[in-house]
Amino acid sequence: MTWTPTMRCQRWALPIWTPGSYTVRDHAQYLHSLNLQQTNQSIAFKRVSASSWQIDLDSLERLTLSYCIEARQLTVRTCYLDPDFASLCLAAAVMEVDGYRWMPHWLTFSLPVDWNVHLPLEGSDRYWAEDFDHLVDAPVHAGRLESQEFSVNKNTHQLLCIGEPPGGWPVNLLADISSVCRATCSLMNESPPAANHYQLVIQMLEKGYGGLEHDFGAVLQYSWTSIGDDEGYRKFLQLVGHEYLHQWNVRRLRPREYWPYDYSQPVISEGLWFAEGITSYYDLTLPLLAGLSDRKSLLKDLSDELYPLFANQGRQFQSLSDSSREAWVKLYKATPSSADTQVSYYRLGAAVAFCLDVRLRLVNSSLANVLRQLWRKFGITRRGYSRHDIQAEIAKISHDLADELALWLDTPGLLPIDAVINEIGLVLERSNEVQSDLGLTVVVNNSLVEITRVENGSAAREAGLVVGDELIAAQGFRLRKPIDLQKLIPNDRLVAITYCRRGELAETNLYCHSSKKKQWQLIWDPNASYEAKLMRDQWFEFI
Ligand SMILES: [Zn+2]
Repeated sequence: MTWTPTMRCQRWALPIWTPGSYTVRDHAQYLHSLNLQQTNQSIAFKRVSASSWQIDLDSLERLTLSYCIEARQLTVRTCYLDPDFASLCLAAAVMEVDGYRWMPHWLTFSLPVDWNVHLPLEGSDRYWAEDFDHLVDAPVHAGRLESQEFSVNKNTHQLLCIGEPPGGWPVNLLADISSVCRATCSLMNESPPAANHYQLVIQMLEKGYGGLEHDFGAVLQYSWTSIGDDEGYRKFLQLVGHEYLHQWNVRRLRPREYWPYDYSQPVISEGLWFAEGITSYYDLTLPLLAGLSDRKSLLKDLSDELYPLFANQGRQFQSLSDSSREAWVKLYKATPSSADTQVSYYRLGAAVAFCLDVRLRLVNSSLANVLRQLWRKFGITRRGYSRHDIQAEIAKISHDLADELALWLDTPGLLPIDAVINEIGLVLERSNEVQSDLGLTVVVNNSLVEITRVENGSAAREAGLVVGDELIAAQGFRLRKPIDLQKLIPNDRLVAITYCRRGELAETNLYCHSSKKKQWQLIWDPNASYEAKLMRDQWFEFI
C-alpha cells in the first residue's frame, strides 16, 4: 500500500471481521513480514493492538507498507490462493489507514501471464474504489477464468462459474438464475440497485454451502453433490435469490448500527433477525415466484426450515433479539449442543417473517409491502433502521401486530406458529413412525467415538453421559462407529455402557425408550374453512 501522509502520526489497521459474517476473525493472524518504507528505507513502527499499528514520522514523504497474507482458507469471507486460482476477500487483506477511509483507493494486480482477474470495480490495469468500504466490499477472483453475461430487467450482470460439477453445469443455469433475480426484483418492485455492475460468483466445490453478499455482487459456495437433484438445485436457486435480495435488505437497508461499519470491534445489533430472517423467508419463495417450482415444494422447504425450531429446545432459552445480539459469540461459534440452548436468527427470523406475513395479510397488507416501505425510507436514503422503525411501519397497518412483534422478539418460545399455520388453511402432519432416540450426537475422532451433544431429558442424559465422554462398548462389545450405537443398543432394554471420562474408564446403564418420530410436514388442511383457503391463495402470491 502506498500513500502520502498529511500528518506525522500515522495509524493503520486490518479489519478484525468481514461484514456479512458477524464474528471476530482476527484476520491479522494470517499476516506476516509487515514492513514500512519511506524514501526506500525501512522505518520502525509499533503495534498498538492485535490488528493495528502506528508511527510518528519525521517527514511527510510518501509511505509504502508491504506485507504477506497466508491465503489458505477457501471461504467466502477469507483469502485463498493456489497455483491455479485466487479468491480474495479484501476485508481480510487490506489495511484501513486513519484519515483515508472516505477517500478514493486504487488497486492493481501482478498476475501470472495467462491469468485474468474479476472484481466488481471499475478499471482495467488500475481499479478504482470510491472509498475503503467500497474497496473491501469487492471480492476478487483470479485465474484462467471466463465470465458470462445474463440480464435482469435490462440490466446486464456478470456470472463467474468456478469448478464445473462432475455432471456438468445445469443446462438452464443462466436462464434460471435470471428468472430468480427477476422474481426478486418483482418482490421489491424495482430494478436491482447494483444495476449493470452486479457480479455473481459461484464456487462449485466438493463440499460447501454459503454465500456472502456485497453491494455489487455475491460469492456463493455450493456442493456439486447437491446441485444434481431437483431439491438440491432448488436450494441452490434459493441461495442465489437470498444473496440477490441482500442487495436491498442488508447491504443498503442496514441496521443502524452498521452505518458505517466499525471494522475494529464486534458491533452488536438486534437487527440481524430482520436482515437474515426476512431474506431467508423470501429466498424459499423465489423459485416459485420465478415459475421454477411449485406450491408443494415450497411447503416442503418451509417445513424443513421450521422443523428444527420445534425439534430442538433452543428457542425456549434464547429470544430472537438475543440470538441476533449474541451472533458474534454464539451462532458463529455453534457446536452440536448449541441447539439445546440457542436458536438461529436465520431460522427463527424466517418463522417470524412467516407469521408477520400471514398476520399482515389478514389485515389486507403483506410483509413485502412493509419491506418495500422500509426500503424507501431507510434503504434508499441509507439512514439505517432500528426496531422502532420496523414497528412504526407495521403500526401504520396494525397497532396490535406491532406490539405483538415486540413480544415475539423478546420472549423465548412465544411465536404463535401453530395458529398462523391454521389461519392459512394448512396443518402440520406429524409422522407416527417409531424410532429409537438416545438423545446423543457423536463424532468419530481418531477412531474414538466421542459425544458432542446430549439432549435434555434424553436417555443419554438420564444415564449420566456428558459431552466429551468417549463411548467404548455397549453390552461388552466395542463401539467403533455411530451406526454401532443403533446395532448394540436395542429399544426398551437396559444396556451396560462402558465409557471413558477424563482418562478413566467407567460404566453406566442406558435405557432407550422407543419413541414416535418427531418429523412433521406442512400440508393442505382438508378441513380448512373457505376464508382460510382464500387466505392461503393470497399468501402463496407473496409479493
Ligand atoms: Zn444472508
